[in-house]
Amino acid sequence: MSRFLKPQLTDLKEYTPGEQPTDMQYIKLNTNESPFPPSDGVIAAVSAKEISRLRLYPEPDCSALTEALAEKYGVEKKNIIVGNGSDEILNYCFMAFFSKEKPVLFPDITYGFYKVFGDLYGIDYTEVPLKEDFSVDPDDYLKKGVGVVIANPNAPTGLALTVSEIEKIVAYDPNRVVIIDEAYVDFGGESAVGLIKKYKNLIVVMTFSKSRSLAGARVGFALADEALIKDLAAMKYSTNPYNINRLSQLAATAAIKEQEYCDKNCRTVIENRGYLTNELKAIGFTVLDSKANFIFAKSDRIGGKDLYLGLKKRGVLVRHFDKPRISDFVRITIGTKRELDILLEKTKELL
Ligand SMILES: *Cc1c(COP(=O)(O)O)cnc(C)c1O
Repeated sequence: MSRFLKPQLTDLKEYTPGEQPTDMQYIKLNTNESPFPPSDGVIAAVSAKEISRLRLYPEPDCSALTEALAEKYGVEKKNIIVGNGSDEILNYCFMAFFSKEKPVLFPDITYGFYKVFGDLYGIDYTEVPLKEDFSVDPDDYLKKGVGVVIANPNAPTGLALTVSEIEKIVAYDPNRVVIIDEAYVDFGGESAVGLIKKYKNLIVVMTFSKSRSLAGARVGFALADEALIKDLAAMKYSTNPYNINRLSQLAATAAIKEQEYCDKNCRTVIENRGYLTNELKAIGFTVLDSKANFIFAKSDRIGGKDLYLGLKKRGVLVRHFDKPRISDFVRITIGTKRELDILLEKTKELL
């Protein structure tokens, strides 16, 4: 840290991304990426001709991509904004809607970025404890005038609320913003996107990083009432109007047009998730009921940190969180069947 940093930032605890090591080839089951490459149409869309156009700025309003998304989700273009990953969309949300005077609630065990944004902007936030079984209790979020951010399915637990539970939270107070982060919804969760026409205080955030095999392209988006989208657009046009590069706009637009490819991959992930869950349970693991492309699991025979380190030494990366209540667990991304079999073999070795 330099002596020039603003005093209010000196204690900032930044977000810790999952490891992206380059020292050796790992079986990478630590950052919830797709094990499948982007579809053929995506690869064709990012052509030499398009690369030669990189001297030009991209279109700031991402019109082709927004059009494709509007069609897919049955909404209008004015109900959508695209961001550089959903992380950027979440950044806009915290920037625009929460502060010291406009507090927000989110679970104590959830996506780590919410707390980072809360600290960054000096927001009055409360981390609401998950229930004993690690689920979110919707009743904990019924507080007038206090915003809500919930990942659904939640990470790293993989547990999901139903749409009617989400609706209860959204409907409780129209005078506060509720953000539902649906990064993992394509793997078996229920989307709240159908509620955005009815509720003017709901923002649903989604990403191309998980189910659409485009984590490296950095594309996410939000769906909401027009007025909320305008607020988010004001954040974008006040920070980085060209936030989605030309190639990523083309790749994401092509991905939306090949929905069957995404659906097929999601079905495979769901099938593999069932396989891994059963295999781990057979060797004594506790595995939470995941609706995401990862599972959260623990064994009485080995601690979470030891399992993580032991697997890493054997070339398999999973994610461990050194936090109270969850330090016994590891989060394992659902890879291909072959990758999961190697993970299982190494896990048995360690036990
Ligand atoms: C992965 C993830 C994101 C971020 O996704 P990007 O679109 O890659 O920025 C957001 N929220 C949750 C809960 C995630 O797990």
